[in-house]
Amino acid sequence: MGHFDIAVCGGGIAGVAAALAAARRGRKAVLVEKQSALGGLATSGLIYIYLPISDDREHRVAASITEELLLRCQEYGPFALEKKWGGTSNGHSGHPRDVYQCCFSPAGYMLTLEQMVREAGVDLRLETTVTGVRCSGSGRLEEIEIFCGCEKEYISADCFVDATGGAFVLRMAGAKVFPETNYHNPWVIEVNPDDKQRAFTGDLHMQVMTIPEINGSMPQVLSAAEIQEFMRRQYQRIRDYYDAMSPEKRKNIYPVHLPMMPQTRKIARIDGLAEICTGEAGKRVEDSIGVVADWRKLAPAWETPYGALLSRQVRGALTAGRSINSSGDAWEVFRVIPAAATTGEAAGVAAAMGSEQNLDPAEIPVVALQQELRKTGGIMHLDESKPFK
Ligand SMILES: Cc1cc2nc3c(=O)[nH]c(=O)nc-3n(C[C@H](O)[C@H](O)[C@H](O)COP(=O)(O)OP(=O)(O)OC[C@H]3O[C@@H](n4cnc5c(N)ncnc54)[C@H](O)[C@@H]3O)c2cc1C
Repeated sequence: MGHFDIAVCGGGIAGVAAALAAARRGRKAVLVEKQSALGGLATSGLIYIYLPISDDREHRVAASITEELLLRCQEYGPFALEKKWGGTSNGHSGHPRDVYQCCFSPAGYMLTLEQMVREAGVDLRLETTVTGVRCSGSGRLEEIEIFCGCEKEYISADCFVDATGGAFVLRMAGAKVFPETNYHNPWVIEVNPDDKQRAFTGDLHMQVMTIPEINGSMPQVLSAAEIQEFMRRQYQRIRDYYDAMSPEKRKNIYPVHLPMMPQTRKIARIDGLAEICTGEAGKRVEDSIGVVADWRKLAPAWETPYGALLSRQVRGALTAGRSINSSGDAWEVFRVIPAAATTGEAAGVAAAMGSEQNLDPAEIPVVALQQELRKTGGIMHLDESKPFK
């Protein structure tokens, strides 16, 4: 059995940010990811747009690891972030305005993320799944069971970060969660010389499909049976799309990469100590640990209460990414890549502080956490954000 200061479960963007933040503070950190690559939905799910970290005032609302991950997503790919305020995505004409965002090659980003995590000194466990937990009598998460190949191992840690995208580890530990209705439209990388709309480069482009019969009404994806149904429909929809083409056309237009994760937008949010609710854009939140832009429109950004990362039921752990406690319209805003990075970094720093000071994450003074986050450039409140030069 290994003991770590911090154990991060799930290597999506939130988990990567959490592990980087903890390891860069000198903590002994392990990152457990069930797939063979990092990035989660952003890479294995073929999501190729790092959405904006800017708001309606043309202010940059996030920096630190969130900005670093945005800038580095271009390393292995054809996309460029322009030097002037705002980014453009090479060949992608879907955005009517300049915003600080960037497109990336999902495969290229996998290469960068793995390098970043190893350089930070994180003990990276790919192809390793968290399959169980052990809690103390007081509901504190103390140990996880992991499987790699057919080898089982137990890992204990001072503090855990559940960045599995659906709070799976916290749920195993007894956390209550809330689900949400999903809609479904598979994203596929295909060769299509005819369509330059979402071109990566040359003939390679992203095909976004809709599933008309269930659009807007996908059942909540919580049970194993619902996940199987989600995947069945995903494959069927993609086959239907290509089957509708003539054999001649299918010689020129064909898939080269399918999503390797269910493209579920929302799986579960925790029952947190705080909740981010519809209508809270632009409001000051005293215990904010970061600011998140509204990716859908030019609008005020949102401050993020620390309590949204903390489960009411489970101690010794935080969540980060798309499983934090944001509901309704707020969940729509917070379920994307920049929010995953910002909440991941905050969770990693909070977990590290808990380990350093022998405190539960819920006991950490938020003012001290905010101070630590600011030391690496973190922006806690809207009035701390600055216009781009
Ligand atoms: C169709 C679609 C389009 C989207 N478009 C965009 C977009 O354009 N831009 C944008 O910013 N966002 C977009 N999003 C949302 C965004 O991609 C995700 O919300 C974000 O990447 C989530 O990051 P995360 O780290 O919170 O979770 P995830 O990416 O889900 O990461 C969780 C990780 O945990 C791992 N894991 C899960 N269970 C276990 C376990 N038991 N043991 C070990 N590992 C485990 C998973 O394999 C995964 O790698 C889109 C989502 C969808 C579905």
